[in-house]
Formats: sequence, structure tokens, C-alpha cells
Amino acid sequence: MNGDIVVLNTGSSSIKFSLFSGDQDLTLLGHGQIEGIGGKGRFRASNRAGEPLVDEVIGDRPDGLRHDQATATLIEWGQQREATSHVTAVGHRVVHGGSRFVAPVRVDDRVLGQLEELIPLAPLHQPHNLAAIRAVASIRPDILQVACFGSAFHRTHPAVAQLFALPRELTETGVRRYGFHGLSYEYIASVLPEVIGSDADGRVVVAHLGNGASLCALREGKSVDSTMGFTALDGLPMGTRCGALDPGVLLYLIEERGMDVSEVTDLLYHKSGLLGVSGISNDMRTLLASDDPRAAEAINLFVYRIGRELGAMAAALGGLDALVFTAGIGEHAAPIRARVCRDAKWLGIRLDEQANIRGGPRISRNDSVVSAWVIPTNEELMIARHTRALLSEQETHA
Ligand code: ADP
Repeated sequence: MNGDIVVLNTGSSSIKFSLFSGDQDLTLLGHGQIEGIGGKGRFRASNRAGEPLVDEVIGDRPDGLRHDQATATLIEWGQQREATSHVTAVGHRVVHGGSRFVAPVRVDDRVLGQLEELIPLAPLHQPHNLAAIRAVASIRPDILQVACFGSAFHRTHPAVAQLFALPRELTETGVRRYGFHGLSYEYIASVLPEVIGSDADGRVVVAHLGNGASLCALREGKSVDSTMGFTALDGLPMGTRCGALDPGVLLYLIEERGMDVSEVTDLLYHKSGLLGVSGISNDMRTLLASDDPRAAEAINLFVYRIGRELGAMAAALGGLDALVFTAGIGEHAAPIRARVCRDAKWLGIRLDEQANIRGGPRISRNDSVVSAWVIPTNEELMIARHTRALLSEQETHA
């Protein structure tokens, strides 16, 4: 019998976790998060009915809550509640699998070493993902740990879509376009046939519009291109990230403004995007509710760039059969979906305004040549599915 599965999503300032039953249904038994790592931490968890189990401030050290402390707090809490006594596997979201990892993998010392070699490709995220794996291994060495990669789903991109126009030796050392949000796209691809029917076998663009945002071009459910490249900075403007930027701007910032690497990193990752342009917020709800012209300009830019990249993804696919919206903004911001669909009239999308306000799932009219949809994503469930699959494989071989 399979035990329960914990899914960990360790970010730069938070750890999100979910507990799934390890049986065929993968029932969500509880979930929560520790936020505020690096400062004052807050630990919240709720059970399967959504009732709160804990909500407390943790880690009052002057240098702030560390990742390993947060992970240890989480594991100890689970052990005290006996909730983790049935846990036999932990699935981790790991941002980068490089060119090597095309699928989820069971983590052992050798794999951990290979994943450490990828840290320079994702220095802001990969170290935190790996620290969580190490923390679990030190407390529960018996447990199966599985790394599920944000980049793996995109390894089906044709070679030309992975290239930068840079000298070959750089490409050979891994400076290439990878693509991210892969677990979200993989989940969407897995439910597409039941939600949209036969178009799932055609040319589909999925718009993952959350705090991070990207588009993915799917042909027959396989990723053939994405707006994200070497890092999760590329492509669309996001909550606080700039998206695609003329690299000449970087040279200017360094040469003329005298900015150093950490200042440029902070600017591009944390101070740009919707927050930078509006000067108000990275939160789409706040911007939509604001009558400040700067909020309108940030939204205009977001919508314009989605439209431009949608054209690029349709070109990569040689046409378009369906457009799918997902993640926080994609699932909940009807005005943004409406504007993207209206701008994409040239591609053959005719919006059903009422269906869009209701939230779909289908938001295009019956006479629309290209259909448009809203489908909630579920990266945690995707990780749980992969983890269960590797757990079953291990039990078969045992
Ligand atoms: P993350 O990438 O951190 O997982 P989410 O997918 O949760 O982010 O998306 C967060 C974004 O979704 C925020 O910009 C938030 O404002 C937006 N969002 C969530 N709910 C709504 C809503 N009802 N209307 C508009 N935007 C929303």
C-alpha cells in the first residue's frame, strides 16, 4: 500500500506544502505555507476541509528565519501531529533540470550533485530547492525524494527554439533557452482532452499568468516553444520581473549608471514588471481597482506583450486552434482575458463576454474559429502524480 505524499515548493522567501493520500485518488489531505523567510516567518496550515490547524509567527532571530529552520519546523510539526508517520515520499518542485533531466527523478547523492552543478543557471531558486531536499534527507533518510523540474516539460522543443544567436561554445556550456512553468503546462496538457476535446491534439497556446507569467505553445500536448528562456526573467512582463529586455539596457545600467550585479538582479527580478511600471503594486487586483493612469499603463503593457507573444507562439505552431488561460490572473481576472481575446480577433478568437465573466471553462463563442478557455492549474497535484509513479516503480522493483 502506498503511504502519503508531501509536496514541497520551496521559493526564495516561502515554502508551500501539500499532503496527498498516496492512493489512486491522490486526495488533498492538507496544505499550508511558511512565508517571510529571511525575516519574520509566518506558519499557516489547514486541513482537507480548509479549517486552520496553525497560524503562528516563527523564527524571531535578528538575522531572520532561515530556509533550513523553516523546513525543520515544518517536519517537526508534522511529526508531532503524527500526520507524517504515513508519509513515504516527498515530491519537490525544482526549478532547473538543465538539458540532462527530461523527467522527474528519484534524488540520491549522485543526482543531488548533478542538480548542484545547475545552481549557476538558477542561483536565486535552485539552492533553496536543494536545501529542502537535504533538510528532509537529514531528518527522514528513509523517505523517497523526487525532484520534479520546471524545465523538463520543455525538453521537447526543437533545437532551433532552444538556441540563442551566441557563439557555439556558450551554447555547448548550457547557455540556451530552457523554458519554465513546465509543471503547470504539463498539468494543463493532461486535462486538455477532457476539457476542450479534440482540439487538445491540435495547436494550443497556454497562458500561465500569475506572479510569474509565460506562454507555452503545445502541439499534440507536447511543448514546442515557450516565452521563457535561459531564466524565468524572459518573455512577458510579470509581477515584479521585467520580461524580455534589450540586452543593451543591461550594458547601459552597468556602464552608465554604475550598477553592480546585485543591484541589476534586484532591479530586474524584484522592482520591474507591473510593480515597476505602475509604481503602485505587483498585484493585478490592486491595479485593476486603481484609477491611477500608471496602473492603466502597466496593464496596457501586460496585455500588449501577451498579444505580441501570442502571435509569436502561433507562428511557432503554424496557426492556432485553442487558447487556454491559467494561474492567478488567467483564472480570475476576466477583464485581462477579455482584452487579450479581443486583441487576438485577427487570430480567429471571438469572445463570449458572459461566459468570460462567469469564468468559463469555454469563453469563446460557438462561431469562434479558435476556441478560448479557462482551466485552473495544479502544479502540486502534478508533482504528487510524478512522485506516486516513482514510488510505485520503486515498490515494483523492491
Ligand atoms: P504565483 O505565480 O505566485 O503562484 P498566482 O498564480 O497565485 O501567483 O497569481 C498571482 C496573481 O494573480 C496576482 O497578480 C493576483 O493579483 C492575481 N489574481 C488573483 N486573483 C485575482 C482576481 N480575482 N482578479 C485579478 N487578479 C487576481
